[in-house]
Amino acid sequence: MRCMSTTSPVAAARCAARISDLPCALDAIGAMGIAAAARALVVFLDYDGTLTPIVSQPEDAILAPEMRTAVENLATRCPVAIVSGRDLKDVQARVGVAGLYYAGSHGFEIAGPAHLLAEYEPAQAYLPALDAAESTLEHLLGTIPGARVERKRFSIAVHYRNVEAGRAGAVEDSVDRTLERHAGLRKGRGKRVFELQPAVDWNKGRALAWLLEQLQLEHSTALPLYIGDDLTDEDAFRALEAGGIGIVVGHGDRTTAAHYRLRDPEQVQRFLQRLAELLAAPARRSPRAR
Ligand SMILES: [Mg+2]
Repeated sequence: MRCMSTTSPVAAARCAARISDLPCALDAIGAMGIAAAARALVVFLDYDGTLTPIVSQPEDAILAPEMRTAVENLATRCPVAIVSGRDLKDVQARVGVAGLYYAGSHGFEIAGPAHLLAEYEPAQAYLPALDAAESTLEHLLGTIPGARVERKRFSIAVHYRNVEAGRAGAVEDSVDRTLERHAGLRKGRGKRVFELQPAVDWNKGRALAWLLEQLQLEHSTALPLYIGDDLTDEDAFRALEAGGIGIVVGHGDRTTAAHYRLRDPEQVQRFLQRLAELLAAPARRSPRAR
C-alpha cells in the first residue's frame, strides 16, 4: 500500500484501500491508541449489516439480545450513536437502549439524551416531492415481481434483493424515470437497494460532524470511531479525515476509506465488548498503572 501512517496511531492511511487488505480491528484494537488517547472516544454504529446480519426483508433485521447488551455496556463507558438509513422511530425501537444518540434517515433526523430532537430543516421542503415520487415508483414497479418500495420520512428505499437478476436493470430504469419526473431528489445506492433522497448536501458524514457538535465535542477534543458496512457509510469514513477510526464491516475487493475491517456483526459484537473492557481498564485513568 502506498499510504503511510503518520505520528498518531489513529491517523492511519487515508487513501482508499480494498477491504480485504485492511487489518482486522480485533487484532489491531491495542494499536488504535484508544486507551491512551487524551481525546474522548465517541462510537458511531450503523444498524443493518453492522449490528444485525443483512436479511431479505428489512423488518426482519432484529437486534440480538447479546448485541444489545454489548451496546448497552459500551454506552456506560462513552457516548454511543446509532446512525441509520432507517426512520428515526424505527431504529430507536429496534435498538431500544436508553441514553444513546440516534440519527435516522441517514442523519436527517436526530434524537438523544436530555430531549435532544432535531431535523435537518432544509430537507422538510422535499417532503411533497418524496410523496409524489413514492406514487410514481409504486406505479412503475408494480409489474416487477420482488421489487419493493419502502417509504421513510426523508427517503424512499427501492429494494431489489428479491428481484430476479435479469430484471435489476428494469428497477433502476424505473428509479431513473421517477427522478426525471420529480425534481429535487437524487439517487443513492446500497446493497441491492436504491435510495431516493432530497438532493441536499447531507449524508452520514455530515450527520457525524453535527452530532459531535451536539455533544460539544470537536475533532480536537473527540476521538470518533465509526463502524458501518455499506456505501453510505463511506461518507462517514471520509469525515474522519481530521482524525478518527473507521471500521468497515465485510470482506472482498470493494474499496473503502475505512482504516480497519470486521468480518460480520458477530465480530462487531466482540469488538464492542473488547472496547468496553479497554475503556474500563485502570490504564485509561492512569498511564502508569499496569
Ligand atoms: Mg448498513
